[in-house]
Amino acid sequence: MSIAGERYGEVGRMGTMTFPASRPRRLRSSETLRSAVRETRLAPSDFIYPMFVCPGESVRKEIGAMPGNYQMSVDEVVRECREVAALGIPGVVLFGLPETKDLVGSGAYADDGIVQRAIRAIKSEVNDLLVIADCCLCEYTSHGHCGQVVDGDVDNDASLPLLGKAALSQARAGADIVAPSDMMDGRIGSIRAVLDNNGFSSVPILSYAAKYASAFYGPFREAAESAPQFGDRRSYQMDPANQREAMREIALDIEEGADMIMVKPALPYLDVIYRAKQEFDLPVAAYQVSGEYSMIVAAAGNGWIDLDKSMVETLTAIKRAGADLILTYFAKTMAKLTA
Ligand SMILES: [Zn+2]
Repeated sequence: MSIAGERYGEVGRMGTMTFPASRPRRLRSSETLRSAVRETRLAPSDFIYPMFVCPGESVRKEIGAMPGNYQMSVDEVVRECREVAALGIPGVVLFGLPETKDLVGSGAYADDGIVQRAIRAIKSEVNDLLVIADCCLCEYTSHGHCGQVVDGDVDNDASLPLLGKAALSQARAGADIVAPSDMMDGRIGSIRAVLDNNGFSSVPILSYAAKYASAFYGPFREAAESAPQFGDRRSYQMDPANQREAMREIALDIEEGADMIMVKPALPYLDVIYRAKQEFDLPVAAYQVSGEYSMIVAAAGNGWIDLDKSMVETLTAIKRAGADLILTYFAKTMAKLTA
């Protein structure tokens, strides 16, 4: 037995030698070597770019709390999508700002709704880009909740037909994927049935399966003008303290027909992403939400952290935890960095 072996045992964990025979620092001595043994790599194909569509023409209005992101009219969205596709980013997810809002969110399922128009325009003018339609009511209801409000409360079962209509109108407009984000019970099964019964059995559902009632959505509400006008969303979005419940939500959505599942937000919920990847065989998406983005941009703007390094580190962590796809406002910046 060697001197090292006598001191530390001949073979350490998983057959490796212990110090001084084993020195992990040997593999960190240069960037070339570090790169050669890197376990997690980011590529443009990892990302989905979220976009906000608004009425008008040639409109490009920067979102105050999310520098570098814009509310864009359909023509601008199409222009942006050409750039996104050219960068090798596989898809975009669309959120709509309708001309008018009402109690039942009619704009979410109008054939000429803002998102429906954007989908048609992108699909006819941009090749090889997946258009994912966020499917919810909160951007279209005057009260800002994700379902129909009955007697001061969001009525689960009354909301399901409206969400089904929204998904169907998005599929009719040409959406490649519909992504329900409302967190009503039973909505995946309900939407699947509506799509199947209307000839859209091949349109996949990306379910926001584990969506938490998070403080990090703050800047998004400015972007999508979708803040609830009374109360909050804690009666339908998940309690941030719960991990096992997320597995139950995901299992239910898969049973109901989800093709992909999502965890949202991402960085504060890496344990949920990790466990979802271990327990389920479907692709796992994670949404690095507006507040996660804005925190990094604001801190970097103050010179407190390095923007690129923080961006890469957080996105690497999200992928390392198990995300197959990452929805992020950094998609374009990252694609340029990793191309
Ligand atoms: Zn919503």
